[in-house]
Amino acid sequence: MIIRTISGDIAPEKLGRTNYHEHAFQISPLLSGDELDSAEKSSREFSRLAKSGFDSYVDATPIGLGRRPQQILDLSKISGLQIVHATGVHKEAHYSHTHPVTSLSVADLIELFSYELLTGVLKNDSSMEISAANTSEIKAGFIKFGISNEPLSPFEKRALEAAATVSGQTGVAIMIHTDAASEIFTVLDSLESFGANLNRVVVAHIDRRPDPKFHATIASRGVFLGYDGAGRSQYFPDEILVELFSNMVELGFASQILLGADVARSSRYIEYGGGPGLEYLGNSFLPKLRIRTSEEIVHKVLTTNPANWLAFNP
Ligand SMILES: [Zn+2]
Repeated sequence: MIIRTISGDIAPEKLGRTNYHEHAFQISPLLSGDELDSAEKSSREFSRLAKSGFDSYVDATPIGLGRRPQQILDLSKISGLQIVHATGVHKEAHYSHTHPVTSLSVADLIELFSYELLTGVLKNDSSMEISAANTSEIKAGFIKFGISNEPLSPFEKRALEAAATVSGQTGVAIMIHTDAASEIFTVLDSLESFGANLNRVVVAHIDRRPDPKFHATIASRGVFLGYDGAGRSQYFPDEILVELFSNMVELGFASQILLGADVARSSRYIEYGGGPGLEYLGNSFLPKLRIRTSEEIVHKVLTTNPANWLAFNP
């Protein structure tokens, strides 16, 4: 079993303390004016993340949203962080109607996701051309797809099927972007029907609906719960999220929680002139979790859980 980072494969026990969801670079029509597009500023921001107590992070920017495979290698060297990078796609609303990825078939998407995992991430993913000249040095280490609160669009259904198929074949991890996760049980059933093992899957942003009973029902399917609302006070204050974490630990689901902050916007990155920045999770939120639960539990959630989620046998 290995974890596939952008700098090569590592043994799962080398992953260390891991933030399961951030973005070094991101450009989307949905986040106009909030672009993450400066290699210098992003490198400095991720150096802050490293200093706040992390060895690794998972980069969740998928195909077509401003990935920079060459520059993220530099960012890894400057910050000292190990990085596991996404292939896959976001929910349909993040793409212009003319983006070529949204018209790919299931077979095309399977080919593309597999190529980025096994050969390399495309350099220019607005052209979507699969060729040696358009292939970067970095390989992806997991597959992302996105759903909103609406029933899935035809494109989102194809992305789900492709992600489930490739994960079923390789054992690679899956991340599902959700909004309020209203369709989540249908989605989990579909993933299984296409061959995915649900213990390879994290349901991201699920703490936007901080209901322990709902979370216990989801977690009982075997998936990881992605908690990433810390410092995003437009959803819930930290106190509610600390309480949710503590409740889920008491219910016996500590080994199925992943922690990140998905800060994701330039207006929230210190080095782009905003806040609270990538250091908020480690410096402000995790101390609250340690007081409410224990140092030991928080450490396990930051190290063992992400390694279990990401490790596979390519
Ligand atoms: Zn994100």
